[in-house]
Amino acid sequence: MKIGIFGGTFDPIHNGHLYIADNARKLQNLDRVIFVPTANPPHKQNKLITTPASRLEMCTLAIAGNEYFEVSDIEVNRPGLSYTITTLNELKASYGTRAQLYFICGADMLGDIPNWYLAQEIVANYHIIAFPRPGFDMKSIVQQQQLLKEHSNNLILLDIMAVEISATLVRNSIKAGNSVKYLIPDQVIEYIQLHDLYSGRTRK
Ligand code: ATP
Repeated sequence: MKIGIFGGTFDPIHNGHLYIADNARKLQNLDRVIFVPTANPPHKQNKLITTPASRLEMCTLAIAGNEYFEVSDIEVNRPGLSYTITTLNELKASYGTRAQLYFICGADMLGDIPNWYLAQEIVANYHIIAFPRPGFDMKSIVQQQQLLKEHSNNLILLDIMAVEISATLVRNSIKAGNSVKYLIPDQVIEYIQLHDLYSGRTRK
């Protein structure tokens, strides 16, 4: 069994996330993709983020109807800082030795992985499927990072069309009063409106 693990803040989940998850599944023949919203991302300690429960709920709404997609609360329910290696090892243990885990990320995250806790263990033991993002050259990122270069056999750099959309852009668009229809799923828009997220009046 081949399982994609897609970690992220998902604040909020957007169509760029769904687009790369679907391509990871299709192009690498994954049996499923598990979205893992992070509770307390170590790299976003100084930023205000929406509650884990809300981000988890938005992920659940966004994937509804896709039989290959699942959402896991494994990080949301873990106390303290969330580390990707802990998540991967826990999921690996729960799926058994026959399961192969593929960590899905965008080009910006790829370059950051060497700075993560136990990065060596991540790249040595797990496959990484990376997707292009505007402004990031994945091949030169790998060339510049010794750790990635050493484990390039575990890296799968997918050369598909990059999409500009980011959660920052979505949050800013909502704050500015613009439409984000077609950038994020309709059910997520409804949730955001219902809970008055990202409007700038309150931060939840
Ligand atoms: P923010 O703008 O708040 O930093 P983000 O849009 O980058 O958020 P995250 O939840 O931080 O979203 O990202 C989760 C994962 O999805 C990361 O690996 C990130 O690189 C990837 N990702 C997000 N948007 C895209 C995109 N448009 N194309 C490719 N990868 C993406």
